[in-house]
Amino acid sequence: MTQEELFKKLVAHCKEYGFIFPSSEIYDGLGAVYDYGQNGVELKNNIKRYWWDSMVKLHENIVGIDAAIFMHPKTWEASGHVAAFNDPLIDNKDSKKRYRADVLIEEWIAKQDEKIDKEVEKARKRFGESFDEAQYRSTSPRVLETAAKRDAVHKRYADAMNANDLAELRQIIIDCEIACPISGTRNWTDVRQFNLMFSTQMGSTAEGASTIYLRPETAQGIFVNYLNVQKTARMKLPFGIAQIGKAFRNEIVARQFIFRMREFEQMEMQFFVQPGTEMEWWNRWKEIRMAWHRALGFGDNNYRFHDHEKLAHYANAATDIEYNFPFGFKEVEGIHSRTDFDLSRHQQYSGKKIQYFDPERGESYVPYVVETSIGVDRMFLQIMSAAYTEEKLDGGEERVVLRIPAQLAPTKVAVMPLVKKDGLPDVAQKIIDMLKYDYNVAYDEKDSIGKRYRRQDAIGTPFCVTVDHQTLEDNTVTVRHRDTMAQERVSIDALPAMVDSEVSFRKLFQKLGL
Ligand code: ATP
Repeated sequence: MTQEELFKKLVAHCKEYGFIFPSSEIYDGLGAVYDYGQNGVELKNNIKRYWWDSMVKLHENIVGIDAAIFMHPKTWEASGHVAAFNDPLIDNKDSKKRYRADVLIEEWIAKQDEKIDKEVEKARKRFGESFDEAQYRSTSPRVLETAAKRDAVHKRYADAMNANDLAELRQIIIDCEIACPISGTRNWTDVRQFNLMFSTQMGSTAEGASTIYLRPETAQGIFVNYLNVQKTARMKLPFGIAQIGKAFRNEIVARQFIFRMREFEQMEMQFFVQPGTEMEWWNRWKEIRMAWHRALGFGDNNYRFHDHEKLAHYANAATDIEYNFPFGFKEVEGIHSRTDFDLSRHQQYSGKKIQYFDPERGESYVPYVVETSIGVDRMFLQIMSAAYTEEKLDGGEERVVLRIPAQLAPTKVAVMPLVKKDGLPDVAQKIIDMLKYDYNVAYDEKDSIGKRYRRQDAIGTPFCVTVDHQTLEDNTVTVRHRDTMAQERVSIDALPAMVDSEVSFRKLFQKLGL
Protein backbone atom coordinates (compact mmCIF):
# COMPACT_ATOMS: atom_id res chain seq x y z
CA MET A 1 0.00 0.00 0.00
CA THR A 2 1.44 3.40 -0.91
CA GLN A 3 1.53 6.17 1.68
CA GLU A 4 -1.08 8.02 -0.35
CA GLU A 5 -3.47 5.06 -0.20
CA LEU A 6 -2.80 4.74 3.50
CA PHE A 7 -3.69 8.39 4.01
CA LYS A 8 -6.94 8.03 2.05
CA LYS A 9 -7.88 5.06 4.20
CA LEU A 10 -7.11 7.01 7.33
CA VAL A 11 -9.39 9.88 6.26
CA ALA A 12 -12.19 7.41 5.50
CA HIS A 13 -11.61 5.67 8.83
CA CYS A 14 -11.84 8.97 10.72
CA LYS A 15 -15.29 9.52 9.25
CA GLU A 16 -16.59 5.98 9.51
CA TYR A 17 -15.70 5.71 13.19
CA GLY A 18 -16.92 9.11 14.34
CA PHE A 19 -13.58 10.91 14.70
CA ILE A 20 -13.87 13.64 12.07
CA PHE A 21 -16.66 14.78 9.75
CA PRO A 22 -16.50 17.46 7.04
CA SER A 23 -18.17 20.61 8.41
CA SER A 24 -21.84 21.06 7.44
CA GLU A 25 -21.58 17.97 5.29
CA ILE A 26 -25.26 17.91 4.31
CA TYR A 27 -24.49 21.10 2.36
CA ASP A 28 -21.44 19.43 0.77
CA GLY A 29 -19.00 20.68 3.37
CA LEU A 30 -17.02 23.88 3.80
CA GLY A 31 -13.43 24.08 2.53
CA ALA A 32 -10.83 23.17 5.15
CA VAL A 33 -13.29 23.22 8.04
CA TYR A 34 -14.02 20.04 9.98
CA ASP A 35 -16.14 18.81 12.88
CA TYR A 36 -15.01 16.32 15.50
CA GLY A 37 -17.33 13.41 16.17
CA GLN A 38 -18.05 11.39 19.30
CA ASN A 39 -14.65 9.69 19.35
CA GLY A 40 -12.71 12.60 17.90
CA VAL A 41 -13.75 14.99 20.64
CA GLU A 42 -12.56 12.56 23.32
CA LEU A 43 -9.16 12.08 21.69
CA LYS A 44 -8.86 15.83 21.19
CA ASN A 45 -9.71 16.53 24.83
CA ASN A 46 -7.11 13.99 25.95
CA ILE A 47 -4.43 15.57 23.75
CA LYS A 48 -5.26 18.93 25.28
CA ARG A 49 -5.08 17.49 28.75
CA TYR A 50 -1.68 15.89 28.04
CA TRP A 51 -0.38 19.25 26.90
CA TRP A 52 -2.09 21.42 29.53
CA ASP A 53 -1.04 19.32 32.50
CA SER A 54 2.51 18.94 31.21
CA MET A 55 2.73 22.73 31.13
CA VAL A 56 0.60 24.01 33.98
CA LYS A 57 0.73 21.14 36.46
CA LEU A 58 4.32 20.06 35.96
CA HIS A 59 5.84 23.54 35.97
CA GLU A 60 5.41 25.63 39.07
CA ASN A 61 6.24 28.73 37.07
CA ILE A 62 3.63 28.28 34.33
CA VAL A 63 -0.01 29.31 34.68
CA GLY A 64 -2.86 29.17 32.20
CA ILE A 65 -5.39 31.64 30.82
CA ASP A 66 -8.31 31.61 28.41
CA ALA A 67 -8.52 34.87 26.46
CA ALA A 68 -11.29 35.91 24.08
CA ILE A 69 -11.08 35.26 20.36
CA PHE A 70 -12.06 38.85 19.56
CA MET A 71 -9.41 41.37 20.50
CA HIS A 72 -9.04 45.11 20.12
CA PRO A 73 -8.14 45.74 16.45
CA LYS A 74 -5.01 47.61 17.50
CA THR A 75 -3.65 44.30 18.79
CA TRP A 76 -3.13 43.13 15.22
CA GLU A 77 -1.51 46.36 14.12
CA ALA A 78 0.91 46.11 17.03
CA SER A 79 1.67 42.46 16.39
CA GLY A 80 2.44 43.12 12.73
CA HIS A 81 -0.32 40.85 11.44
CA VAL A 82 -2.21 43.58 9.57
CA ALA A 83 0.90 44.54 7.65
CA ALA A 84 2.71 41.24 7.33
CA PHE A 85 0.62 38.14 7.96
CA ASN A 86 0.67 37.30 4.28
CA ASP A 87 1.28 34.38 2.01
CA PRO A 88 2.59 34.87 -1.53
CA LEU A 89 -0.02 33.49 -3.90
CA ILE A 90 0.07 32.71 -7.59
CA ASP A 91 -2.71 31.61 -9.96
CA ASN A 92 -2.53 29.30 -12.94
CA LYS A 93 -4.37 31.09 -15.75
CA ASP A 94 -5.58 27.89 -17.38
CA SER A 95 -6.88 25.90 -14.42
CA LYS A 96 -7.75 29.05 -12.45
CA LYS A 97 -6.29 27.28 -9.43
CA ARG A 98 -4.53 29.25 -6.73
CA TYR A 99 -1.27 28.15 -5.11
CA ARG A 100 1.17 29.39 -2.53
CA ALA A 101 4.30 30.35 -4.44
CA ASP A 102 6.53 29.38 -1.51
CA VAL A 103 4.92 25.95 -1.27
CA LEU A 104 5.35 25.28 -5.01
CA ILE A 105 9.06 26.02 -4.69
CA GLU A 106 9.48 24.04 -1.47
CA GLU A 107 7.82 21.06 -3.11
CA TRP A 108 10.17 21.35 -6.07
CA ILE A 109 13.12 21.36 -3.68
CA ALA A 110 11.76 18.30 -1.86
CA LYS A 111 11.39 16.54 -5.24
CA GLN A 112 15.11 17.00 -5.90
CA ASP A 113 15.83 15.20 -2.63
CA GLU A 114 13.49 12.40 -3.69
CA LYS A 115 15.32 12.17 -7.04
CA ILE A 116 18.63 11.82 -5.22
CA ASP A 117 17.21 9.15 -2.90
CA LYS A 118 15.94 7.21 -5.93
CA GLU A 119 19.39 7.34 -7.56
CA VAL A 120 20.92 6.06 -4.35
CA GLU A 121 18.41 3.20 -4.11
CA LYS A 122 19.06 2.22 -7.74
CA ALA A 123 22.79 2.18 -7.09
CA ARG A 124 22.33 0.16 -3.92
CA LYS A 125 20.56 -2.53 -5.96
CA ARG A 126 23.26 -2.43 -8.65
CA PHE A 127 26.24 -2.66 -6.27
CA GLY A 128 24.71 -4.98 -3.67
CA GLU A 129 26.70 -5.74 -0.52
CA SER A 130 29.68 -3.58 -1.39
CA PHE A 131 27.62 -0.38 -1.71
CA ASP A 132 29.03 2.62 0.15
CA GLU A 133 26.16 5.13 0.37
CA ALA A 134 28.17 8.05 1.73
CA GLN A 135 30.78 7.70 -0.99
CA TYR A 136 28.11 7.41 -3.70
CA ARG A 137 26.33 10.52 -2.46
CA SER A 138 29.53 12.53 -2.49
CA THR A 139 30.88 11.34 -5.86
CA SER A 140 28.08 10.34 -8.23
CA PRO A 141 27.93 13.05 -10.95
CA ARG A 142 24.13 12.73 -11.26
CA VAL A 143 23.59 13.08 -7.53
CA LEU A 144 25.99 16.02 -7.34
CA GLU A 145 24.34 17.76 -10.27
CA THR A 146 20.85 17.45 -8.74
CA ALA A 147 22.13 18.55 -5.33
CA ALA A 148 23.83 21.61 -6.84
CA LYS A 149 20.63 22.57 -8.68
CA ARG A 150 18.63 22.12 -5.49
CA ASP A 151 21.04 24.22 -3.41
CA ALA A 152 21.12 27.02 -5.94
CA VAL A 153 17.31 27.25 -6.01
CA HIS A 154 17.19 26.98 -2.26
CA LYS A 155 19.48 29.96 -1.90
CA ARG A 156 17.53 32.05 -4.42
CA TYR A 157 14.30 31.11 -2.64
CA ALA A 158 15.56 32.00 0.85
CA ASP A 159 16.91 35.35 -0.43
CA ALA A 160 13.65 36.15 -2.22
CA MET A 161 11.55 35.33 0.85
CA ASN A 162 13.75 37.40 3.11
CA ALA A 163 13.70 40.35 0.72
CA ASN A 164 9.95 39.91 0.06
CA ASP A 165 10.85 39.84 -3.64
CA LEU A 166 7.66 38.56 -5.31
CA ALA A 167 8.95 38.92 -8.88
CA GLU A 168 11.91 36.72 -8.03
CA LEU A 169 9.60 34.06 -6.52
CA ARG A 170 7.72 33.98 -9.83
CA GLN A 171 10.98 33.81 -11.76
CA ILE A 172 12.10 30.80 -9.72
CA ILE A 173 8.81 29.03 -10.54
CA ILE A 174 9.38 29.78 -14.25
CA ASP A 175 13.06 28.77 -14.17
CA CYS A 176 12.32 25.49 -12.37
CA GLU A 177 9.65 24.78 -14.98
CA ILE A 178 7.06 24.15 -12.28
CA ALA A 179 3.71 23.28 -13.88
CA CYS A 180 0.19 23.40 -12.43
CA PRO A 181 -0.73 19.86 -11.37
CA ILE A 182 -4.28 20.39 -12.70
CA SER A 183 -3.77 21.99 -16.12
CA GLY A 184 -0.17 20.87 -16.59
CA THR A 185 0.70 24.34 -17.97
CA ARG A 186 3.18 26.98 -16.85
CA ASN A 187 0.88 29.89 -17.57
CA TRP A 188 1.28 31.75 -14.26
CA THR A 189 0.04 35.13 -13.01
CA ASP A 190 2.23 37.48 -11.00
CA VAL A 191 2.82 36.62 -7.35
CA ARG A 192 0.72 38.72 -4.93
CA GLN A 193 0.58 38.97 -1.17
CA PHE A 194 -2.60 37.75 0.49
CA ASN A 195 -3.51 38.53 4.11
CA LEU A 196 -4.64 35.45 6.00
CA MET A 197 -6.77 37.14 8.67
CA PHE A 198 -10.56 36.85 8.64
CA SER A 199 -12.31 40.09 9.47
CA THR A 200 -15.82 40.95 10.57
CA GLN A 201 -17.74 43.93 11.94
CA MET A 202 -18.42 44.66 15.56
CA GLY A 203 -21.20 47.14 16.41
CA SER A 204 -24.76 47.58 15.24
CA THR A 205 -24.68 50.45 12.75
CA ALA A 206 -22.60 50.59 9.62
CA GLU A 207 -21.10 53.94 10.64
CA GLY A 208 -20.41 52.95 14.21
CA ALA A 209 -19.08 49.49 13.44
CA SER A 210 -15.41 48.72 13.47
CA THR A 211 -13.49 46.03 11.70
CA ILE A 212 -12.23 43.36 13.99
CA TYR A 213 -10.37 40.16 13.27
CA LEU A 214 -10.75 36.55 14.27
CA ARG A 215 -7.43 35.88 15.97
CA PRO A 216 -4.93 34.09 13.70
CA GLU A 217 -2.93 32.91 16.71
CA THR A 218 -3.67 32.63 20.42
CA ALA A 219 -0.34 34.16 21.47
CA GLN A 220 -1.50 37.78 21.39
CA GLY A 221 -4.15 37.03 24.03
CA ILE A 222 -1.25 36.09 26.30
CA PHE A 223 0.87 39.15 25.52
CA VAL A 224 -1.92 41.63 26.21
CA ASN A 225 -2.53 39.88 29.55
CA TYR A 226 1.14 39.75 30.53
CA LEU A 227 0.83 42.49 33.17
CA ASN A 228 -2.46 41.16 34.56
CA VAL A 229 -1.06 37.69 35.11
CA GLN A 230 2.38 38.75 36.28
CA LYS A 231 0.89 41.04 38.92
CA THR A 232 -2.06 38.97 40.13
CA ALA A 233 -0.13 35.70 40.25
CA ARG A 234 3.01 37.50 41.51
CA MET A 235 5.13 35.69 38.95
CA LYS A 236 8.91 36.14 38.82
CA LEU A 237 10.98 35.70 35.67
CA PRO A 238 11.38 33.22 34.16
CA PHE A 239 7.71 32.26 33.99
CA GLY A 240 5.20 31.09 31.41
CA ILE A 241 1.58 31.60 30.41
CA ALA A 242 -0.20 28.77 28.62
CA GLN A 243 -3.37 28.87 26.58
CA ILE A 244 -5.45 26.55 24.41
CA GLY A 245 -7.92 28.05 21.98
CA LYS A 246 -9.25 28.50 18.49
CA ALA A 247 -7.37 30.37 15.78
CA PHE A 248 -8.48 31.27 12.26
CA ARG A 249 -6.52 31.66 9.04
CA ASN A 250 -7.88 32.12 5.57
CA GLU A 251 -5.42 29.59 4.15
CA ILE A 252 -5.06 29.86 0.38
CA VAL A 253 -4.34 26.24 -0.22
CA ALA A 254 -6.18 24.04 2.18
CA ARG A 255 -5.11 20.46 1.70
CA GLN A 256 -4.24 17.30 3.53
CA PHE A 257 -7.34 17.01 5.62
CA ILE A 258 -6.94 18.55 9.08
CA PHE A 259 -3.27 19.37 8.48
CA ARG A 260 -4.15 22.83 7.19
CA MET A 261 -7.52 24.17 8.28
CA ARG A 262 -9.18 27.57 8.22
CA GLU A 263 -10.49 27.16 11.76
CA PHE A 264 -8.20 25.24 14.08
CA GLU A 265 -7.01 25.06 17.65
CA GLN A 266 -3.64 25.97 19.10
CA MET A 267 -1.86 25.15 22.34
CA GLU A 268 0.61 27.93 22.98
CA MET A 269 2.89 28.78 25.84
CA GLN A 270 4.80 32.03 26.06
CA PHE A 271 7.78 31.86 28.39
CA PHE A 272 9.04 35.22 29.65
CA VAL A 273 12.77 35.42 30.37
CA GLN A 274 15.55 37.86 31.14
CA PRO A 275 17.01 39.40 27.97
CA GLY A 276 20.21 37.56 27.11
CA THR A 277 19.01 34.21 28.44
CA GLU A 278 16.60 33.53 25.58
CA MET A 279 18.88 31.20 23.62
CA GLU A 280 19.45 29.02 26.65
CA TRP A 281 15.68 28.81 27.18
CA TRP A 282 14.99 28.25 23.51
CA ASN A 283 17.29 25.21 23.61
CA ARG A 284 15.75 23.99 26.84
CA TRP A 285 12.23 24.23 25.43
CA LYS A 286 13.31 22.38 22.29
CA GLU A 287 14.40 19.51 24.54
CA ILE A 288 11.27 19.57 26.70
CA ARG A 289 8.92 19.64 23.75
CA MET A 290 10.74 16.91 21.83
CA ALA A 291 10.57 14.70 24.95
CA TRP A 292 6.80 15.35 25.14
CA HIS A 293 6.34 14.07 21.59
CA ARG A 294 8.65 11.10 21.96
CA ALA A 295 7.04 9.96 25.22
CA LEU A 296 4.04 8.84 23.16
CA GLY A 297 6.18 6.01 21.81
CA PHE A 298 5.72 6.42 18.06
CA GLY A 299 9.46 6.02 17.37
CA ASP A 300 12.15 8.63 17.98
CA ASN A 301 13.24 8.56 14.33
CA ASN A 302 9.87 9.84 13.21
CA TYR A 303 10.60 13.28 14.70
CA ARG A 304 13.15 15.86 13.72
CA PHE A 305 13.94 19.53 14.16
CA HIS A 306 13.81 21.81 11.17
CA ASP A 307 15.40 25.22 11.69
CA HIS A 308 13.81 28.12 9.83
CA GLU A 309 15.59 29.73 6.89
CA LYS A 310 13.36 32.76 6.94
CA LEU A 311 12.72 34.13 10.38
CA ALA A 312 9.36 35.74 11.06
CA HIS A 313 9.46 39.47 11.68
CA TYR A 314 9.48 38.92 15.45
CA ALA A 315 11.95 36.04 15.85
CA ASN A 316 15.69 35.69 16.43
CA ALA A 317 15.66 31.88 16.38
CA ALA A 318 13.02 29.40 15.28
CA THR A 319 12.69 25.71 14.76
CA ASP A 320 9.88 23.31 13.94
CA ILE A 321 9.33 19.86 15.33
CA GLU A 322 8.43 17.79 12.30
CA TYR A 323 6.75 14.40 12.22
CA ASN A 324 7.07 11.80 9.50
CA PHE A 325 3.48 11.93 8.18
CA PRO A 326 2.34 9.61 5.36
CA PHE A 327 2.98 12.63 3.11
CA GLY A 328 6.50 13.28 4.43
CA PHE A 329 8.12 15.15 7.33
CA LYS A 330 5.91 18.13 8.17
CA GLU A 331 5.63 20.69 10.97
CA VAL A 332 3.61 19.83 14.05
CA GLU A 333 4.99 22.45 16.43
CA GLY A 334 7.01 25.65 16.31
CA ILE A 335 9.48 26.79 18.97
CA HIS A 336 10.32 30.43 18.50
CA SER A 337 12.49 32.93 20.27
CA ARG A 338 10.31 36.04 19.81
CA THR A 339 12.65 38.52 21.52
CA ASP A 340 10.89 41.50 23.18
CA PHE A 341 9.11 42.28 19.91
CA ASP A 342 5.51 41.64 20.97
CA LEU A 343 5.59 43.22 24.43
CA SER A 344 7.52 46.26 23.14
CA ARG A 345 5.06 46.77 20.33
CA HIS A 346 2.07 46.51 22.66
CA GLN A 347 3.81 48.96 24.96
CA GLN A 348 4.24 51.35 22.06
CA TYR A 349 0.71 50.94 20.61
CA SER A 350 -1.16 50.99 23.93
CA GLY A 351 0.93 53.64 25.62
CA LYS A 352 1.05 51.43 28.77
CA LYS A 353 4.31 50.50 30.37
CA ILE A 354 4.74 46.73 29.94
CA GLN A 355 7.85 45.92 31.91
CA TYR A 356 9.22 43.73 34.62
CA PHE A 357 11.02 45.06 37.66
CA ASP A 358 13.90 42.68 38.28
CA PRO A 359 14.76 42.84 41.99
CA GLU A 360 18.11 41.09 41.42
CA ARG A 361 19.25 43.48 38.73
CA GLY A 362 17.54 46.44 40.34
CA GLU A 363 16.11 47.58 36.99
CA SER A 364 13.01 47.41 34.82
CA TYR A 365 12.97 45.97 31.32
CA VAL A 366 10.73 44.36 28.72
CA PRO A 367 11.11 40.59 29.07
CA TYR A 368 12.14 38.37 26.15
CA VAL A 369 9.86 35.56 25.07
CA VAL A 370 10.35 31.97 24.02
CA GLU A 371 7.20 30.45 22.58
CA THR A 372 6.10 26.87 22.02
CA SER A 373 3.16 26.64 19.64
CA ILE A 374 1.46 23.45 18.57
CA GLY A 375 -1.73 22.78 16.63
CA VAL A 376 -4.19 20.47 18.40
CA ASP A 377 -5.56 19.27 15.07
CA ARG A 378 -2.14 18.61 13.60
CA MET A 379 -1.22 16.68 16.71
CA PHE A 380 -4.47 14.76 16.31
CA LEU A 381 -3.54 13.90 12.72
CA GLN A 382 -0.05 12.94 13.83
CA ILE A 383 -1.43 10.51 16.39
CA MET A 384 -3.98 9.05 13.99
CA SER A 385 -1.37 8.52 11.25
CA ALA A 386 0.99 6.87 13.69
CA ALA A 387 -1.71 4.77 15.34
CA TYR A 388 -3.57 3.47 12.27
CA THR A 389 -2.46 -0.10 11.60
CA GLU A 390 -3.79 -2.82 9.34
CA GLU A 391 -2.89 -6.29 10.50
CA LYS A 392 -3.19 -9.76 9.04
CA LEU A 393 -4.12 -12.26 11.72
CA ASP A 394 -3.57 -16.00 11.92
CA GLY A 395 -6.29 -17.68 9.95
CA GLY A 396 -6.26 -15.02 7.23
CA GLU A 397 -8.50 -12.54 9.04
CA GLU A 398 -7.61 -8.86 9.01
CA ARG A 399 -8.10 -6.14 11.55
CA VAL A 400 -7.66 -2.38 11.67
CA VAL A 401 -6.37 -1.29 15.03
CA LEU A 402 -5.68 2.22 16.29
CA ARG A 403 -2.63 1.97 18.50
CA ILE A 404 -3.42 5.21 20.29
CA PRO A 405 -1.48 5.56 23.56
CA ALA A 406 -3.90 4.24 26.20
CA GLN A 407 -3.92 7.58 28.06
CA LEU A 408 -5.26 9.34 24.97
CA ALA A 409 -7.70 6.67 23.77
CA PRO A 410 -11.31 7.94 23.49
CA THR A 411 -12.77 4.95 25.33
CA LYS A 412 -10.70 3.10 27.91
CA VAL A 413 -12.80 0.01 28.54
CA ALA A 414 -15.57 -1.76 26.63
CA VAL A 415 -17.69 -4.08 28.74
CA MET A 416 -19.48 -6.91 26.93
CA PRO A 417 -21.83 -9.59 28.20
CA LEU A 418 -21.19 -12.80 26.26
CA VAL A 419 -24.96 -13.22 25.78
CA LYS A 420 -27.87 -10.87 26.35
CA LYS A 421 -29.49 -13.06 29.01
CA ASP A 422 -28.89 -15.05 32.20
CA GLY A 423 -28.17 -11.86 34.14
CA LEU A 424 -24.88 -11.18 32.29
CA PRO A 425 -25.93 -7.67 31.13
CA ASP A 426 -26.65 -6.75 34.76
CA VAL A 427 -23.15 -7.75 35.84
CA ALA A 428 -21.72 -5.81 32.90
CA GLN A 429 -23.69 -2.77 34.02
CA LYS A 430 -22.29 -3.10 37.56
CA ILE A 431 -18.75 -3.11 36.17
CA ILE A 432 -19.54 0.00 34.16
CA ASP A 433 -20.93 1.70 37.26
CA MET A 434 -17.73 0.84 39.11
CA LEU A 435 -15.48 2.33 36.42
CA LYS A 436 -17.50 5.19 34.95
CA TYR A 437 -16.56 7.85 37.50
CA ASP A 438 -12.93 7.58 36.47
CA TYR A 439 -12.94 6.46 32.84
CA ASN A 440 -14.87 6.56 29.59
CA VAL A 441 -16.49 3.16 29.45
CA ALA A 442 -18.63 1.65 26.68
CA TYR A 443 -21.22 -1.11 26.71
CA ASP A 444 -21.64 -3.42 23.74
CA GLU A 445 -23.89 -6.47 23.50
CA LYS A 446 -24.45 -6.70 19.74
CA ASP A 447 -22.93 -9.29 17.37
CA SER A 448 -20.29 -11.91 18.09
CA ILE A 449 -17.51 -11.18 20.57
CA GLY A 450 -15.02 -11.22 17.66
CA LYS A 451 -16.93 -8.47 15.85
CA ARG A 452 -17.20 -6.44 19.04
CA TYR A 453 -13.43 -6.69 19.52
CA ARG A 454 -12.90 -5.41 15.96
CA ARG A 455 -15.17 -2.43 16.60
CA GLN A 456 -13.20 -1.50 19.70
CA ASP A 457 -9.85 -2.05 17.92
CA ALA A 458 -10.97 0.36 15.23
CA ILE A 459 -11.42 3.16 17.77
CA GLY A 460 -8.38 2.23 19.84
CA THR A 461 -10.01 0.98 23.07
CA PRO A 462 -7.19 -0.54 25.17
CA PHE A 463 -9.33 -3.00 27.21
CA CYS A 464 -12.30 -5.23 26.38
CA VAL A 465 -13.91 -6.93 29.35
CA THR A 466 -16.18 -9.91 28.70
CA VAL A 467 -18.70 -11.12 31.24
CA ASP A 468 -19.63 -14.81 30.86
CA HIS A 469 -21.30 -17.54 32.88
CA GLN A 470 -18.17 -18.23 34.87
CA THR A 471 -18.37 -14.63 36.08
CA LEU A 472 -21.56 -15.48 37.93
CA GLU A 473 -19.70 -18.22 39.79
CA ASP A 474 -16.31 -16.70 40.63
CA ASN A 475 -16.58 -12.98 39.94
CA THR A 476 -13.90 -13.08 37.24
CA VAL A 477 -14.01 -11.68 33.69
CA THR A 478 -11.93 -12.04 30.55
CA VAL A 479 -9.79 -9.01 29.79
CA ARG A 480 -8.60 -8.75 26.22
CA HIS A 481 -5.75 -6.34 25.41
CA ARG A 482 -5.93 -4.27 22.25
CA ASP A 483 -2.33 -4.39 21.01
CA THR A 484 -1.35 -7.97 21.80
CA MET A 485 -4.89 -9.41 21.64
CA ALA A 486 -3.82 -11.45 24.68
CA GLN A 487 -6.64 -12.52 26.97
CA GLU A 488 -6.48 -13.14 30.69
CA ARG A 489 -8.88 -14.05 33.44
CA VAL A 490 -9.07 -11.32 36.07
CA SER A 491 -11.11 -10.77 39.19
CA ILE A 492 -13.59 -7.89 38.83
CA ASP A 493 -12.08 -6.27 41.93
CA ALA A 494 -8.70 -6.11 40.20
CA LEU A 495 -10.04 -4.20 37.18
CA PRO A 496 -9.67 -0.59 38.42
CA ALA A 497 -5.98 -1.04 39.27
CA MET A 498 -5.32 -2.82 35.99
CA VAL A 499 -6.95 -0.10 33.92
CA ASP A 500 -5.31 2.64 35.93
CA SER A 501 -1.82 1.23 35.40
CA GLU A 502 -2.16 1.80 31.65
CA VAL A 503 -4.45 4.76 31.20
CA SER A 504 -3.30 7.06 33.97
CA PHE A 505 -1.23 10.00 32.71
CA ARG A 506 1.23 9.46 35.54
CA LYS A 507 3.57 7.16 33.58
CA LEU A 508 3.52 9.41 30.56
CA PHE A 509 4.37 12.44 32.69
CA GLN A 510 7.14 10.58 34.48
CA LYS A 511 8.81 9.96 31.11
CA LEU A 512 9.13 13.71 30.62
CA GLY A 513 11.61 13.99 33.46
CA LEU A 514 10.15 17.30 34.64
P1 ATP B 1 2.63 26.47 8.28
O1 ATP B 1 4.02 26.84 7.88
O2 ATP B 1 2.34 25.00 8.19
O3 ATP B 1 1.57 27.33 7.68
P2 ATP B 1 3.07 28.11 10.52
O4 ATP B 1 4.55 28.04 10.62
O5 ATP B 1 2.40 29.28 9.94
O6 ATP B 1 2.52 26.77 9.83
P3 ATP B 1 2.65 28.74 13.25
O7 ATP B 1 2.15 30.09 12.98
O8 ATP B 1 4.02 28.57 13.81
O9 ATP B 1 2.47 27.82 11.96
O10 ATP B 1 1.57 27.98 14.16
C1 ATP B 1 1.93 27.07 15.15
C2 ATP B 1 1.26 25.75 14.96
O11 ATP B 1 -0.12 25.90 14.70
C3 ATP B 1 1.77 24.95 13.77
O12 ATP B 1 2.93 24.23 14.12
C4 ATP B 1 0.61 24.03 13.47
O13 ATP B 1 0.66 22.88 14.32
C5 ATP B 1 -0.58 24.86 13.85
N1 ATP B 1 -1.20 25.44 12.65
C6 ATP B 1 -0.84 26.56 12.00
N2 ATP B 1 -1.65 26.79 10.96
C7 ATP B 1 -2.54 25.78 10.93
C8 ATP B 1 -3.64 25.45 10.10
N3 ATP B 1 -4.00 26.22 9.08
N4 ATP B 1 -4.36 24.33 10.37
C9 ATP B 1 -4.03 23.55 11.42
N5 ATP B 1 -3.00 23.80 12.25
C10 ATP B 1 -2.26 24.90 12.01
